[in-house]
Amino acid sequence: MTAESATADDMAPQFTALDGMSHTIPYRHLVGMRYSYVLLSHVIPLVGALTAIALIPWMPPTVLDIAMALALWALTIGVGISVGYHRLFSHRAFRTPTAIAVVITILGSMAAQGPLIIWVSLHRRHHQFSDAPGDPHSPWLSGPGLSGWLRGFWHAHFGWLLTHDMPDPLFYAPDLLKDKTLNRTSRLFLVWYLLGLGLPALIGGVVFQSWAAALTGFLWAGCLRVAVGLQLTWSINSICHLFGRHTHDTGDHSMNLAWLAIPSFGESWHNNHHQSPAAAAFGRRWWQVDLGYLFILTLKRLGMAQEIKPPRSSTAREDAST
Ligand SMILES: [Zn+2]
Ligand SMILES: [Zn+2]
Repeated sequence: MTAESATADDMAPQFTALDGMSHTIPYRHLVGMRYSYVLLSHVIPLVGALTAIALIPWMPPTVLDIAMALALWALTIGVGISVGYHRLFSHRAFRTPTAIAVVITILGSMAAQGPLIIWVSLHRRHHQFSDAPGDPHSPWLSGPGLSGWLRGFWHAHFGWLLTHDMPDPLFYAPDLLKDKTLNRTSRLFLVWYLLGLGLPALIGGVVFQSWAAALTGFLWAGCLRVAVGLQLTWSINSICHLFGRHTHDTGDHSMNLAWLAIPSFGESWHNNHHQSPAAAAFGRRWWQVDLGYLFILTLKRLGMAQEIKPPRSSTAREDAST
């Protein structure tokens, strides 16, 4: 979606189109914060993940470690990021009671992708400029040729974390800033992040009454789960703007990529999502598995999700291709 085609309906209700200002804080003012975040949420879990693998001959993961890693994957990447940070808060695709929203925010924070309000601000700006100058993590703005393509991939996947200008939350997320409960929960990101690493250690240690089990719980269900989860979500920014099927004419390079659909909980139907950002469902066909949307439908059955927004009507190109 381009700046010209962004509408209030695509974003949260309070979002308005460009008014000629950049609405960003230059990254050079935030270098310390950026590097601190990357060290904390990327480097430490990556070192832990590599340690987990290196220790396999002496300290293999327990069945509980694997079960906790998979459960936390579903809860943090699926419920926290895809359902919560992305569909509920960035696009207001449905409504849910405050208590559920707080739990979902905590789960999203445990995925180590930053505080809710920062994530939402970045993501709303991504949709505003998608693959045009101003997009924080487009792979298409790093020059021509193979070297430009390679630099673009690196930027979209990871480099942007250190070099992007920070979208101003006052402009991009005023709805969340005004919500005192969510604002406070977002500010406690560091607490929830440490909980995501420490909880599996605590459970493993208590269940097996062993420091070794606490360590493998921390390394496998904490560090390795976070490290792989980050790669998955950043792949939506990089791979899903480079490879796959461009079914809808969205004016950008967003793609649908089937093989990432299950681990991403439906996020990789990314071209569908750019065609109709406010829609709760990312899958449009019966075979387009969208576990995040299934979770929202389950919440609805339980009376905990209302005003679930449908997609816009299909384009002719989509109909012709299916
Ligand atoms: Zn995108
Ligand atoms: Zn989105």
